[in-house]
This record gives sequence, structure tokens and C-alpha cells, in this order.
Amino acid sequence: MAQLIFFCGTMDSGKSTLALQTAHNHQSRGRKGLIFSSKDRAGSGKISSRIGLRTDAIEVDESLNFHEYVLEQLAQSQKVEFIIADEAQFYTSAQIEQLATIVDSLDIDVFTFGILTDFRTELFPGSARLVELADEINPLQVGALCWCGSRATHQARIINGVMVTEGEQILLSTADDVVAYEVLCRRHHMRQVTSRKSRDYYATNVPLFGE
Ligand SMILES: [Zn+2]
Repeated sequence: MAQLIFFCGTMDSGKSTLALQTAHNHQSRGRKGLIFSSKDRAGSGKISSRIGLRTDAIEVDESLNFHEYVLEQLAQSQKVEFIIADEAQFYTSAQIEQLATIVDSLDIDVFTFGILTDFRTELFPGSARLVELADEINPLQVGALCWCGSRATHQARIINGVMVTEGEQILLSTADDVVAYEVLCRRHHMRQVTSRKSRDYYATNVPLFGE
């Protein structure tokens, strides 16, 4: 029986690398599948990994209906034996439900990959729906590390060098503001101590926690 499987991790946890490896494993056995991604760092219609691998992918925007898309492929006699769906945190709840329908009604395995929580430590809608619906949830074992060496479980949003905890869920850099992300352990996310702040502390003894 086909399954809806969710691999989750923070940024830098090797999520896209695993998505690419999974696609490769199936393709090397002659299996045909579809590869989706959304807002990848390499641009629209790509999956790229930090260790340099990349492949073309179907870009997911809000208007895409996964179930209808797959039905169209099948109607054109295209084989669809598996689906890889990266950056699933950016999908809508409805799109996750469409993926579940593909598993149940078409008996196609769907492998999803995504970040669990956003920079405010709240679940992304796509990831929340996956936690609710997936047959299997696998936290990635190659954990990214916080600057302190602990396992990083959260992402910090850093605008012009300063960590922020409020704002839109998805935000990219503009001409005025450089938006960056850093993975932190929960302790340092809660205390808002980024690697830069910790370095400043050791260089200048500026209090870390606002004492
Ligand atoms: Zn830490």
C-alpha cells in the first residue's frame, strides 16, 4: 500500500539532499515519478542542496492542484510511480490533502520534505497538515548544530544583523533589508542569542540576556 511520508528537519539538516537522493534511488531503478518544490534557494522550478546537487522540479504555487496534475499526467499515459515534494512547509493545507488523496486513491507513494516550524517557532501550515495526515513522520537524523554545539531545532530570522520574532511567515531580502536565517537550539532561540550576539558577548562582555 502506498504511503504519505514526511521527512522533517530544520534548515541545513540535509532535507533537500535526501529529497534528491530519494528521487535518484527510484529513477535508478527505472521508476518514473514527479518532483515538486517551492521557492528553492536556486530559484523557481529547482531543488538544490547545500552540498551542490540539484535537479529540475515542478514549481508549486498556491494555484497548483496536485491531484488534478497527476490525473492529467496519467490521462496522457505518463507513468507516475512516486512523488517527491520538497519545501512542503510552503504548501497549503488543501495541497497536503491533495497529496493524501493521491496516496489513497491512486496508490502512489508520496515523499514530502519540509521544515517543521517557522522563525517564530510556530508550525508552518503545510507541515502542520502533514503532521496530522502523514502515515509516517521521520525527523532527519543529520541534525544541524547551533553555534553552541547543541542540536539546532529552530530557525531564527535575522534582519540586517538583528534577530526578530515577529513578522510575515515568509520573507525574502529586499533592496533595503538583508533577511537571513540561522539555526539555533531552543534555548538560544528563546533567549535570542545568535552566533553574532554570542561573539559580541565574548568580545565586549555586553550582557547576553539583558541582565
Ligand atoms: Zn545553542
